[in-house]
Amino acid sequence: MSDALSLTAAEAAARVRAGDLDPAELWHGYRERAAADDLNSYTWVAANGGPPAVDREAPLGGVPLAVKDLFCTEGVPSQAGSRILEGYRPPYTATAVARLTGAGAPLLGKTNQDEFAMGSSTENSAYGPTLNPWDRSRVPGGSSGGSAAAVAAGRAPWAIGTDTGGSIRQPAALCGIVGLKPTYGAVSRYGMIAFASSLDQAGPLTRDVTDAGLLFGAMAGQDPCDSTSVGLPAPVELPSRTDLRGVRLGVPEELTGEGIEPGVLASFRETLDRARELGAVVESCRLPHAPYGISAYYLIAPAEASSNLARYDGVRYGFRAEGVDDLLRMYTETREQGFGTEVKRRIMLGTYALSSGYYDAYYGRAQKVRTLISRDFHAAWERFDFIATPTSPGVAFELGAKTADPLAMYLNDYCTVPMPLAGIPAISIPSGLSEGLPVGFQLAGPAFSENGLLDAAYALERSIGFRDAPWRTAA
Ligand code: GLN
Repeated sequence: MSDALSLTAAEAAARVRAGDLDPAELWHGYRERAAADDLNSYTWVAANGGPPAVDREAPLGGVPLAVKDLFCTEGVPSQAGSRILEGYRPPYTATAVARLTGAGAPLLGKTNQDEFAMGSSTENSAYGPTLNPWDRSRVPGGSSGGSAAAVAAGRAPWAIGTDTGGSIRQPAALCGIVGLKPTYGAVSRYGMIAFASSLDQAGPLTRDVTDAGLLFGAMAGQDPCDSTSVGLPAPVELPSRTDLRGVRLGVPEELTGEGIEPGVLASFRETLDRARELGAVVESCRLPHAPYGISAYYLIAPAEASSNLARYDGVRYGFRAEGVDDLLRMYTETREQGFGTEVKRRIMLGTYALSSGYYDAYYGRAQKVRTLISRDFHAAWERFDFIATPTSPGVAFELGAKTADPLAMYLNDYCTVPMPLAGIPAISIPSGLSEGLPVGFQLAGPAFSENGLLDAAYALERSIGFRDAPWRTAA
């Protein structure tokens, strides 16, 4: 069985469809591993009943799926890593999850995350931190750290997460797997517990680029339940390109210099050399407003969060403070006890940024910066097909290293926030190791360029030949 568990999801699905692999066996193998997980990647694992009935012909071939906790899943705990949602079992399922289970990927479990997806290390979960399978004294990144760790460790064949400022790409980078943040609107947000609605986007965390394409194709598309979702201009195609001839890659000076660890830069530059060998034209470029991405993001995202999180009042969902008989005090006590420190910090920041006296100075100004960042990318697309940067400025850091310094934590997002601010897609693939830990290489493209991005990432993936990931040898 462990042979089947070291296949990529697409390989496993192909074997199931060919009749060479029993999906029930696959299910039990992964369920056992998920139930025995000691990295705290899961917050809930499917019961050990019979495997869900699988149509062998289904596109996803019965390959089980791990789902970030914040996706509402009918009858299954969906707590977004927060105590305030403790015990919440939604009466409905998020569209993305429903599409994937409908396409033949049964729900294996829910994965740990930073509370309401606020964080870069999964240390902000009310259910304890997730450990990095490469080194258990280190973080897996965040906020989709549970999904990334489970996939990297071979305890899930594939997973989905959400990315608001980097939460798919950064944990994928820190765990040595592939993470794709789609174009804003490509995947329905219906049933995703909201953090910052103008930025949140669901996407795959997978062992390789092909798996990312397969999962993305099955979850994307217009949904009447989310008015910001749009149909893709062309069907998702599985990547097949083996060269990069004629592909123009822009390397923004602003995101590839100061603040990036030397080992990460070295791996990044090696990957650019590979791109050149594969035929790409690699040139330096400018994204002059990208360095202001963090400042704009940490006003816009908290502003939207402060509004989205107003609904947690102890009446409608999950947790309620006990022993309080006054209604207003019940609200405040519930929020005081139910939210963690980072969430409270963001609610305060966001409420302040939106207050009438400061709205123009903070929220309004941040929105203008957002427009300028978007224009920088538009200008870049006149010369380049894709932009290349390191995904994260550093490799996985020690647990606790940044918890006391929110600004140091926020800087993890330096290379990943400009893309969601502009609504454009980006993918992270493992490019090698630094200090024995995985490094991520990021490619970003114009809106709806996912097919091209997947193709370019696939060509690079084949050339890099990253073979070290723990899932290959997991028992
Ligand atoms: N690390 C960023 C934050 O804390 C991004 C999180 C995300 O993408 N959900 O907001």
